[in-house]
Amino acid sequence: MDCLFCKILEKEIPSDILFEDEKVCVFRDIRPKAPIHYLVIPKKHIASLNEAKEEDKELMGELLLSARKAAQKLGINEKGYKLSVHTGEGGGQEVFHFHIHILGGW
Ligand code: AMP
Repeated sequence: MDCLFCKILEKEIPSDILFEDEKVCVFRDIRPKAPIHYLVIPKKHIASLNEAKEEDKELMGELLLSARKAAQKLGINEKGYKLSVHTGEGGGQEVFHFHIHILGGW
């Protein structure tokens, strides 16, 4: 599949990974829009929130808790941070592999 984030997961494209487990990977955004900007992605290819299925319910919850874990690891959890999900071209989505942006460090 010609998906940039799947290639990052396969280590075909280098990235700065904060942590990964069986289902989730968190890595640094290459063009940060905040002093700290990371992306949380599922290892399963889901193009966008629009394509998430009922069976992905638990995975979607894990992604959210992984974002919290990343914020803790990055030391921005106490001060606070923003999460955003771009959905579809009209939502500003550029990479069609579901991801949650973690923005903070201001
Ligand atoms: P979105 O607009 O929600 O689809 O965001 C895609 C994000 O992926 C952008 O913030 C990009 O800077 C980021 N991005 C694109 N290519 C890479 C890459 N090779 N490594 C890390 N982040 C990337």
